[in-house]
Amino acid sequence: MTKEEPLGYVAEPQKQVPVAYDVDVAVVGGGLSGMFSAIAAGRLGAKTLLLDRFAALGGNLGPAMIVGGSVAGEAPVTLPGGLAGIPKELNDRMEALQVETGHRYADITNIISHLAAQLALDAGVEILVPVWVGDPIIADNRVAGLFVEGKSGRVAVKSKVVIDASADADVCRRAGVPVITDMAPDPSWPPVIRQEFLRPEFVPWNDTAIYFVMAGVDFPRFEQFLASDVTLTAEDEAWLAEREQFPFARQAFEDPMIPLLRHAWEIGEYYYLKTVEPHVHINTPNLWKGPYENGLVGSRINMGGAIRRDDMKQHARLETAIRMHVFETVQFFRKYVPGFDRAYLLITAPYFGSRGGPHIDGEYTITPEDAFNGAKFDDVLYRNTHAAQPHYGGEASGFDTPYRSLLPKGMDGLLATGRASAYIRRGHDPGATRARPALMQLGEAAGAAAALAVQDGVAPRHLDVKKLQRHLLQQGFFLGEPARLAQLGLTNP
Ligand SMILES: Cc1cc2nc3c(=O)[nH]c(=O)nc-3n(C[C@H](O)[C@H](O)[C@H](O)COP(=O)(O)OP(=O)(O)OC[C@H]3O[C@@H](n4cnc5c(N)ncnc54)[C@H](O)[C@@H]3O)c2cc1C
Repeated sequence: MTKEEPLGYVAEPQKQVPVAYDVDVAVVGGGLSGMFSAIAAGRLGAKTLLLDRFAALGGNLGPAMIVGGSVAGEAPVTLPGGLAGIPKELNDRMEALQVETGHRYADITNIISHLAAQLALDAGVEILVPVWVGDPIIADNRVAGLFVEGKSGRVAVKSKVVIDASADADVCRRAGVPVITDMAPDPSWPPVIRQEFLRPEFVPWNDTAIYFVMAGVDFPRFEQFLASDVTLTAEDEAWLAEREQFPFARQAFEDPMIPLLRHAWEIGEYYYLKTVEPHVHINTPNLWKGPYENGLVGSRINMGGAIRRDDMKQHARLETAIRMHVFETVQFFRKYVPGFDRAYLLITAPYFGSRGGPHIDGEYTITPEDAFNGAKFDDVLYRNTHAAQPHYGGEASGFDTPYRSLLPKGMDGLLATGRASAYIRRGHDPGATRARPALMQLGEAAGAAAALAVQDGVAPRHLDVKKLQRHLLQQGFFLGEPARLAQLGLTNP
């Protein structure tokens, strides 16, 4: 899907914009990665401002209500050294506050938003929410701050370093640094990358989802229904097979659901799969199993295909469609599925999350081959693992995430973290490069780098990386085995 051409152009009148803040570090996006950047910078003494368009912090872990996976669940797999630093601290505090209801997302989400704000305030960070961050202020090829829109109107934020933690590289794109959006599929990609995403019409391929919670569900009755002995007819099987022409496999529905779905489909009442626009499809909802209590059931609707995170018109169409689909899905369940007759939609996540999207083509851009082959870089921030490594006989001890993957090309005063940082995605990117534990740690590393650069009065690209590495080691990050650390001059052999 190509980006739509503008209808024309108008000149924006010049005006004086009031400076509302003058800080050392401004972090754009208090999501999964950015919240750790702000806390880390604040703790290192930098005057730090954290900005987000949602008042609840946490991003994918906060208002997106964790659309899949878990907070640190993958850490033992994705981080050879386990979760460390401020992310570990937040995770430990979260676990202490968590109620064992089995309904983990609805609970954890709010704990995380609260803890993110608490840890940020404790670190002296100023929080500016809800605001929309617009263009960066650029002077002498350096980002020197941001224009921000809020209820006060447009204000300026002056900042020595800006960290782009917006997930979709908003600041970097507006700063005009090289950004990668489209990744044309290549048949040489390994089989671990789901083949349906290799079709050219799915460029730029992306995978999104929205989370929602239904209340008033008689879950034991639903389970009893799922356990019932339903044999699908040949017509049911044929009907299902026809639906499989969509590029996404049937995931969530067990056999007793199929005749109900088929009936609703055939009378034109509910389509569990939907083509929203060419090459964008709504997928089946995932009903998370588990010991649900209080009649709550959490679920998510997936949407995949040629989805651009840098096209607001398409975004508006897709988000409207998926939210309507959530509502229609709940109506279907209420009408047809035993146990749901008194169910209702309690909440749909305010934030429609994405696995992919634009990211910088950085001073170094991590490739899947780096990940498969266990690459080592002297500017390592932590070691990561890629799910595809075993397919390549790669090193189980993972690969290095280099500091340069935070640095956009050709622009000073700017760092990118989280999904905006420099790593090549292919299809679903089944690896750990974009996984939560890694990006949480990347957030802390970016915040520490910004604060140390300000302390030393240098641009982030001229930071003494050893200084940053020593700080991360103190924070418990795993940068390699002792011999490797000695080789890097970080410890004695
Ligand atoms: C469907 C789905 C399933 C996933 N499954 C897993 C999984 O199983 N395991 C796993 O480890 N990870 C999973 N993830 C995580 C995912 O892969 C990403 O890596 C992660 O969400 C990226 O975090 P981030 O900090 O870059 O972005 P986010 O957490 O999205 O944070 C970005 C923040 O920036 C703010 N923002 C953006 N633009 C602006 C602006 N212009 N002005 C102000 N604020 C702005 C947003 O409000 C948000 O708070 C999943 C994600 C999705 C969507």
